[in-house]
Amino acid sequence: MAGYVYDFIEGNKDLKDLLGGKGANLAEMTRMGLPVPPGFTITTDACREYLRTGTVPDGLFADVEDHLRLMQTRMGRTFGDPDDPLLLSVRSGAKFSMPGMMETILDIGLNDTSVAGLARQSADERFAWDSYRRLIQMFGRTVFDIPGEDFESELAQARVSAGVPTDAELGQGQLYDLVEAYKKVFHAHTGRDFPQAPHEQLFLAITAVFRSWNAERAVLYRRQERIPQDLGTAVNVMAMVFGNRGTDSGTGVAFTRDPATGRRGVYGDYLRNAQGEDVVAGIRNTVGLAELATIDPASYRRLLSIMERLEGRYRDLCDIEFTIENGKLWMLQTRVGKRTPAAAFVIAAQLVDEGTITLDEALRRVTGEQLAQLMFPSFDQDAAPAPLTIGVPASPGAAVGAIVFDSAAATAATGPVILVRRETNPDDLPGMIAAQGILTARGGKTSHAAVVARGMGKTCVCGAEELELGDDTLTVGGRTLRAGDVISIDGTNGRVYPGSVPVRPSEVVRYFEGELTAYGDPLLAAVERLMIHADHNARLGVHANADNGADAARARRFGATGVGLCRTEHMFLGDRRTLVERLILASGDAEREEALAALLPLQRADFEQLFAAMDGLPVTVRLIDPPLHEFLPPLEELTARVARAEALGEDPGHDGVLLAAVRRMHEQNPMLGLRGVRLGLVIPGLFAMQVRAIAEAAAARVAAGGDPRPEIMVPLVGAVQELQAVRAEAQAVLAEVAGAPPIRIGTMIEVPRAALTAGQIAGAAEFFSFGTNDLTQMTWGFSRDDVEGAFFGRYLGLGVFAVSPFETIDADGAGELVRIAVERGRAARPELTVGVCGEHGGDPASVRFFHTAGLDYVSCSPFRIPIARLEAGRAAI
Ligand code: ADP
Ligand code: MG
Ligand code: MG
Repeated sequence: MAGYVYDFIEGNKDLKDLLGGKGANLAEMTRMGLPVPPGFTITTDACREYLRTGTVPDGLFADVEDHLRLMQTRMGRTFGDPDDPLLLSVRSGAKFSMPGMMETILDIGLNDTSVAGLARQSADERFAWDSYRRLIQMFGRTVFDIPGEDFESELAQARVSAGVPTDAELGQGQLYDLVEAYKKVFHAHTGRDFPQAPHEQLFLAITAVFRSWNAERAVLYRRQERIPQDLGTAVNVMAMVFGNRGTDSGTGVAFTRDPATGRRGVYGDYLRNAQGEDVVAGIRNTVGLAELATIDPASYRRLLSIMERLEGRYRDLCDIEFTIENGKLWMLQTRVGKRTPAAAFVIAAQLVDEGTITLDEALRRVTGEQLAQLMFPSFDQDAAPAPLTIGVPASPGAAVGAIVFDSAAATAATGPVILVRRETNPDDLPGMIAAQGILTARGGKTSHAAVVARGMGKTCVCGAEELELGDDTLTVGGRTLRAGDVISIDGTNGRVYPGSVPVRPSEVVRYFEGELTAYGDPLLAAVERLMIHADHNARLGVHANADNGADAARARRFGATGVGLCRTEHMFLGDRRTLVERLILASGDAEREEALAALLPLQRADFEQLFAAMDGLPVTVRLIDPPLHEFLPPLEELTARVARAEALGEDPGHDGVLLAAVRRMHEQNPMLGLRGVRLGLVIPGLFAMQVRAIAEAAAARVAAGGDPRPEIMVPLVGAVQELQAVRAEAQAVLAEVAGAPPIRIGTMIEVPRAALTAGQIAGAAEFFSFGTNDLTQMTWGFSRDDVEGAFFGRYLGLGVFAVSPFETIDADGAGELVRIAVERGRAARPELTVGVCGEHGGDPASVRFFHTAGLDYVSCSPFRIPIARLEAGRAAI
C-alpha cells in the first residue's frame, strides 16, 4: 500500500485526486525548480479514512514525522527548537478549489519559549509576538471551534487601549498582553491551556483540516457547485516564510492574464510587510502589482519570469500566491485560474493565436453555460439602489418595467411591464410573453414561471417570499407599490429593485443579431471563431422551437437550420380564443365545422409567415396538444362570476354556458387526459383543419416562388394504431391540396410506451422527435408543475438526483428510453430522422447526451441556439 504522505518533490500536477489541487500544484512548482518552501502533502485517502473511522489511519503520524525530518535537514532548522524554530503552515486543499471554505493554520510550532527564540533570530520582537497571537487565534478557531468574535473583541480592545486604528500599529508590549488575553480566551472555552508541544499542535491541526471537509458551509458550497461530497481534502504541511518581516517583505496575488477580460498583462495586488491572510481580510490597502517593479525590482523580474514559465507549463491562465521575505521571493500557490465567461472566450482564442493550444482544445475550454451568461443583458451595478428584496434567480437577465398583476393587464399594456404573480400557471402565458420579466412570490427554479421563462429567454425572479401581494398592491419591507410603479428585476442574482436601473444589452446577442461585427472586438472575435469551429465539427443539427415568423427569423440569424417544434396551440391565444370557444361549445357538426372554417385562414397565414422565414429549411409543425379546456377560463373564476350574477338576480348568460362546459370537461389529471393525438381522434375535423392549413400555406409559398419544407408531427402517441388513424386522415387531406410539396408525417416520442414500441411506431412515422418534458414527467410519474415546492428540495438533498431532471435529461431513466427508441426506430426504418424538442434541447449537458445517443438534431428556443451549437461542436471533438 502506498503511503499517505507525499513530499512535494514526489508529486505532480496530475495527481489532484490524491493530493488535492493545491498539493498537486505545489509539487509541480517544486519539480520545476521554482522557489517553493519545502513541505509535504497528506493524501485525500487519509482524510477519507479519517472521516470514515473517526481516527487517524495507523502509521500516518509516524510517516509525517519522517517527512518532517527531511524538511528540517533541508531548512537547517528544527521544528520545536526553542532558539531557532522551524514553523509550519497546515493548509487544506481539495481536488476542486473551494475558496475560503476550509481551514489553514499558520505559524504552527510557536510556544512560550520559542516565541523568544524567533524574536532573537529575526531581531524583531514585535513580529514574533504578532505571529504567536495569530497562531493562538487561528488554532483556537479552527481546532477548538472558539468563536472568532471572542478573539476579535480582544483585538479591538487592544487597539482602543493603544489608541491606534490598525493591528499593524500595535507595539510588541501590546501584542505580548494580547497573547496573554488570547490564552485566557482559549482556556475559558476549552478548559485547558494552549498546547505548548509543537507536535501536538501539528497533529491537532491536521485532524482539524480533515474535519473541516464536513463543515456546514463546505457541505453547502459543494451541493451548490455540484462537487461530490465524498472526495475528502488533502492537507499540505509546509515551512513558513514571512511576508511580515519588515518593508523588504510582503505578500501578494498575481494573474498571468486579466481574469475579468482576458487581456494580457500584469495583474495582481501586493501588500508590504504583511501575511497572506491580511490581503484576503482586506484590512489594509494593497497596491497594484506593477508597483512591485519599483519596490523590489529583482523580485518583480523573477516573478514575471516565473509567471511565464507557469503559463508555459499549464498552457492557461494561472493565478498565483507569493510572499517575499527579506527580498527573497517564495511561491505559495498556483492553479489554473477562475475567470469570467468573457475572459474564458478571449483567453481560449489568444492561446490558439499564441500557438499554445489547438482550436479543438480552445473549444473544449469554453462552455455553453458561459456563452449563456454572455447573452443576457445586465444591470449597471454602480447605478443600482438597495434591493427591495431578493428572490430565486430563475432565468437570468435584467428587466425593467411597470408592475402589472395579471396577464390581461400585461397584454393590454403599451410600455414595458413586469408581470408580478403569486405564482403562474398556463393561463398566464400570454402575459408572460408580453412582459419584459416575471416576478413571483412562490416557487423555485423548476416552478412553472421559471421553466417557461427560461424557455423564452425571459428574465424571471421567483419565490421572492417577502412579497405580500394584495389586490393590486405589492408590499415589501414596509413599502407598498401599485400597478404602474416601475421596478427592475435581475434574474442573474434574484435582486428586485425599486425604479428603473440602467440596462446594458448583451454585445454577444447584438453580434448574433447582425447589429455588431466581430471585427476589432476581442470577445466577439473569439466567439465567432469558436462558433465556426463548433459548427464545422458538430454532428447534431440545431433547430428552433418557434411559433411565428419573427421567432423563426431570429432563430435563423442565431444559426438554426430549421424549426424543430412549432406549437400550433400558441396560435389559438388572444383574440382567437373566442373561436376556440366556439369550437368547444359547438353543439353539432355544422357549428363545429363553422368554427374550424373560421380558424383555418388564421392558421394558414401563420404558417405562411413561418415557412417564409425558414425558406429552404425544415419546419416541423406539431398538431394541437393541450387539453381544450385550457382555452376556457378557469373553473374558480367562472364559478365566482356566475355566483355573483345569480346573487344579483341576473342571468349569467354566456358565463353559465362556459361553466357547464368547463364542469363537463373537468379532468382529475389533465396531463394524462384528453390531449394530443387523443383530441385528434375524438374531435372530428380538428387535425384535418390544421393539416389543410399547413398544406395550403405550403402551396401558397410554392406559388410565390418559395421553398417551404413543412413536416407534420403528431403529439402524445403511445400506440402505432393511433398514429395510423391520424396518418390516414392527414394523407387524405394532403391529397386534396394541389401544389403542395411532399410533406413528411412523424410523431413525438413522449409517452414511455411509444419509446418501448418505437419499432412498431416507426412503421407509420417518417421521423421521431422526443418530447423530453412529457417523457420525463411520465417516466418519473410526477408533474413538473406540482413537484418543485413539494419535494424537490428533499430529493436534491437525498441525492435522488443531483439536478432537476427537467433541467438536465436524466440519462439513466428518460435517457434510457431515448436510447431504446432510437435503436428500435432505426432498426425498423433506417432512414428515420430523430430529434428532440423539449426544454433539454438547449441544456448543455443534455445536448452532449443527445449527441452520444446518436440523434440528428436538437431543437430549442431561439436564444438557446448558439449555446446548443457550441455544445454540439464540443460534444463532437
Ligand atoms: P486558501 O485556500 O483559503 O487560499 P491557503 O492555504 O492558500 O488558503 O492559505 C491562506 C494564506 O496563508 C496564503 O495565501 C498565504 O498567504 C498564507 N500561507 C499559507 N502557507 C504559508 C507559508 N508556508 N508561509 C507563509 N504564508 C503562508
Ligand atoms: Mg490560497
Ligand atoms: Mg409534450
